[in-house]
Amino acid sequence: MKSYAFSECEWCFGAGCNQCTVERKKYEAELQEKLDNPQPIFSAKTDNPHDMKLMKRFFGRNAVEHAFGEDGDGPLEMERNGCIASLIQLLHKDHPKPDEHGVEAEITDLSALSKEIQDLSKAE
Ligand SMILES: [Zn+2]
Repeated sequence: MKSYAFSECEWCFGAGCNQCTVERKKYEAELQEKLDNPQPIFSAKTDNPHDMKLMKRFFGRNAVEHAFGEDGDGPLEMERNGCIASLIQLLHKDHPKPDEHGVEAEITDLSALSKEIQDLSKAE
């Protein structure tokens, strides 16, 4: 039965059990569902100034020029930008009033984080 073990099985965690096949089929169906219905990596409301600021910061001309420039990671960098922009958008939803730990601070911190992630992925 070991050869039919499914590493993502939530019952046996890949050791092999009689639910592995069911779990594999469930996993493959979920994966196919995601592939068939791609979601945007970031969506902005045009009447929301904060959203538009994020849009400009992470998808504006400077961001695109950096991503596809000499030091850029191309599409991967744009993908990362989308993740960071979505994260900041979520944080902003929870804490809409800017203060000393507000949106600008978040953007600065997360830009540094993005740079770190970029450096790490280049090192691999
Ligand atoms: Zn199993």
